[in-house]
Amino acid sequence: MSGLVSNKVALITGGSSGIGRGTALVFAREGAKVAIADIQVEEGHETVRLVEEAGGEAIFVKCDVSVAAEVKAAVEKVVETFGRLDCGFNNAGIDSAMAKTADCTEEDWDRVIAVNLKGVWLCMKYEIPQMLKQGGGVIVNTASIGGLRGLGGMSNYCASKGGVIMLTRTAALEYARAGIRINAVCPGGINTPMSKRLVKQPMMSETRGNAMRRWGRPQEVGEAVVWLCSDAASFVTGHAMAVDAGFLAA
Ligand code: NAD
Repeated sequence: MSGLVSNKVALITGGSSGIGRGTALVFAREGAKVAIADIQVEEGHETVRLVEEAGGEAIFVKCDVSVAAEVKAAVEKVVETFGRLDCGFNNAGIDSAMAKTADCTEEDWDRVIAVNLKGVWLCMKYEIPQMLKQGGGVIVNTASIGGLRGLGGMSNYCASKGGVIMLTRTAALEYARAGIRINAVCPGGINTPMSKRLVKQPMMSETRGNAMRRWGRPQEVGEAVVWLCSDAASFVTGHAMAVDAGFLAA
């Protein structure tokens, strides 16, 4: 099969649902072997089934991205199974109950930062040495429109995603000459279980609305991610790409 990422091996965190699952299907369609890492086991196996049904090859690895030993083991499992790691899509993320900054609980603050920010750092910490060993690779981290624009009621989430963008830029500078490109995607308004939960919250009206006046599909983020991971994006690094139907343009 010839595709944008033919014969590449991709690790996708948060691949049991939403954007991660949609992106796994795009990776597979474009010729990559995929490893799904997530805390949701049954749903992860369902993503594997969907990839296989579409003619691709996939495995599931149970992994909490906020736990260093589990991330290390997940990267090792991918290399043990497929022999290498070409693309890391560090996408697992969570939201929490919406609350103004002073009302955010310490528990909600710590958990969102642990998964969304530390989790992305831990993934890079274990993916990069493997890529260096191979002579290169590509990483895409999932940030958000909330990493570039304040969203009322989501201070922990926005802080985590702004952090992901700066982590992406810094790491991109550090590893560019070693053949590793590192970018971020900033989705907005994608139809997933997370956004369905968020729109039920009373403060959500502040974050609604984009130029197309419609929700995005998970695969529409996947198309951007897989392009960033492909050789077609060979001169693109350190970039935070909006996939938001114009939300950030306003
Ligand atoms: P989702 O809830 O459908 O999927 C998130 C996945 O991450 C789930 O499968 C969940 O089990 C997994 N996950 C959560 N905590 C984890 C952990 N500790 N370790 C491993 N996996 C874990 O949500 P989604 O909308 O697909 O979100 C994916 C990413 O996109 C997140 O980082 C989110 O912040 C970001 N994002 C989403 C939107 C949107 O509109 N949906 C917008 C901007 C950014």
